[in-house]
Amino acid sequence: MQKGKIGVSTDNIFPVIKKFLYSDHEIFLRELVSNAVDATQKLRTLSSIGEFKGELGELKVTISIDKENGTLTVSDRGIGMTADDIDRYINQIAFSGAEEFLKKYKDTANSIIGHFGLGFYSAFMVSKKVEIRSLSWQEGAKAVAWTCDGSPEYEMQEIEKADRGTDIVLYIDDDDKQFLEKSTIDGLLRKYCRFLPVPVVSGKEQEWKDGKYVDTDRDLVINSTAPLWARKPSELTDEDYLKFYREIQPGQDDPLFWIHLNVDYPFTLTGILYFPKIRSNFDINRNRIQLYCNQVFVTDSVEGVVPEFLTLLQGVLDSPDIPLNVSRSYLQADTAVKKISSHITKKVASRLEEIAKNQPDEFQKKWNDIRLFIEYGMLTDEKFCEAALKFMLLEDTEDQYYNLEDYRKLIEATQTDKDGNLIVLYATDKDAQYAYIEAAKQKGYNVVMLGGQLDPHIVGLLEQKQEKTRFVRVDSDVVDNLIDKGETEAADITATERVIAEAMFRSALPKLDKAEFIVAVKALAADADPVVLTQHEFMRRMKDMAAMQGSMGRFYGEMPDSYTLTLNAAHPLVKRILDAATGSVGEKVDASEKELSSVNDTIATIDKKKAEERTDAEKTLLEESRKRAEEIRAERDKLIADYAATQPVVSQLIDLALLGNGLLKGEALSRFLHRSVELL
Ligand code: ADP
Repeated sequence: MQKGKIGVSTDNIFPVIKKFLYSDHEIFLRELVSNAVDATQKLRTLSSIGEFKGELGELKVTISIDKENGTLTVSDRGIGMTADDIDRYINQIAFSGAEEFLKKYKDTANSIIGHFGLGFYSAFMVSKKVEIRSLSWQEGAKAVAWTCDGSPEYEMQEIEKADRGTDIVLYIDDDDKQFLEKSTIDGLLRKYCRFLPVPVVSGKEQEWKDGKYVDTDRDLVINSTAPLWARKPSELTDEDYLKFYREIQPGQDDPLFWIHLNVDYPFTLTGILYFPKIRSNFDINRNRIQLYCNQVFVTDSVEGVVPEFLTLLQGVLDSPDIPLNVSRSYLQADTAVKKISSHITKKVASRLEEIAKNQPDEFQKKWNDIRLFIEYGMLTDEKFCEAALKFMLLEDTEDQYYNLEDYRKLIEATQTDKDGNLIVLYATDKDAQYAYIEAAKQKGYNVVMLGGQLDPHIVGLLEQKQEKTRFVRVDSDVVDNLIDKGETEAADITATERVIAEAMFRSALPKLDKAEFIVAVKALAADADPVVLTQHEFMRRMKDMAAMQGSMGRFYGEMPDSYTLTLNAAHPLVKRILDAATGSVGEKVDASEKELSSVNDTIATIDKKKAEERTDAEKTLLEESRKRAEEIRAERDKLIADYAATQPVVSQLIDLALLGNGLLKGEALSRFLHRSVELL
């Protein structure tokens, strides 16, 4: 029997291990099973190169629980260890590694993920005593047992052991009795060992017999040893990918697309990423990508490893090149990780481009499902954005899809303004903006739908990325003004008519909370609406952004919505109203306009002089003239307002325009209803 002291300086490091990694006790199982798998793989290798000439036998890792003795055992049929091996790998090397590890990360305990490297000694997180029983593959090797009770002292002696391989026997601590429950152990095995390359067996499969579950003689194998991502893409069918998805994401709709990653230079990375079908925004679930290291599950929080927008994807990544025993901030700064991250982005982008090009119908059909994802990527990742500009789609109001280039070709001829800007007309709500969409279509324009959650940002982004392209919402102006082609307007109305029209409609505007109106008169098409309500693109965008951002946008958010109410002077009904008004108050308005104009002339003449050159008389005259101009306007407007008050049709027209935009509410709505009945 050999007795000795493990090569550590701290007297008793096990309590530290225990406390330090408290929250992650369960990973001991991953570590031990990984070691067992490694030992098995090594034996396979030795056999394949002819070093090992014996029978491999059934290579598997077995987990067994002995409740009576309070032990959990991990057994393998791998290379095993001689007493020398144990001395070298367990007594000396492994432990000094663990000690270093602990020293290094003592202060950042919580930021550590993975904990790879602690290896075998993590067994002491849950055990009061650990025993290794091993028989090496080497010819003539003697079986050996090593025990250690958590102090740095161990005992080692020869034993009888029939089978090649290693049993690690854990005498589970009283505090950790849950690790003697088969259901707990099976759960952990499924979490960490599901795709290990050697069969992992936990007891027997059960069957229902005589009113209860009984063991069969078939092993219960926890894992699938050749997971899809480790196989060659060329050997796999769509059905294989779908089946695997259903396995790792049970209960989900089938994915839209997938990408099989398979890199071996300059880093090793395999994996399959799926684009999930997102049914609603509530459905968005991050942390659905599982990170593996040589088929050992490590974590399902991959932030730092993949770019943020890709965390919306689902699937698996497997790379031995991602440093796992480090803090997250370190991970983000790691160059290997950066390379992996940008590689994944590039792959995702090129796969999407490929689908868009080779299966355009499929891509269009699924566009609305992946759009949120792509837009999010474009907004957060410069490189992805550049790539996505080639395949992102615009959908028009007729449900036709175009990529940006094709769309430009489609509308270039009709929707270029006088300065050579391409004007993309868009709507956010087919129903609410119906009339505006129709008007634009009537004019031969095309309208795209950009009503998605991220679209206000996307609109800004596209304007920035595409030269001489501007986006204008269909209801931001009357249709004739949407695209300024520099054409002069057809015959307009007289100045007096304009004054009357503006004052008349201004006087009849309802007072609405947080809304301001400007009245304009313009000869639109005769069959266009008599009154059109629009909201200026710039202001509306500012407010939209404010609504989304919260803090920065307070300022714009608090501002009233400002609308333009455009009277269509060419509409017969408006014409009739204006004719009648001119007949009734036209002469008086004419007279006051004349006076106003002469008063204004006086003001302008004096205004032209510098203040210090003006005589006292001129100063007085200026002041009086200004006052007079005010009076004239007020009198004129009152005259027109009084007249307008006798014309319910004026209010009726305004209210109809408001109603068409969902702005007529409460008292104003009820007044409108009463007036409608009266007019009928
Ligand atoms: P690591 O696995 O990171 O090397 P461990 O502390 O887990 O660190 O293991 C130390 C060494 O002990 C291993 O490298 C291996 O040589 C040996 N070892 C551990 N478990 C087994 C096993 N089940 N069979 C054979 N050798 C083992």
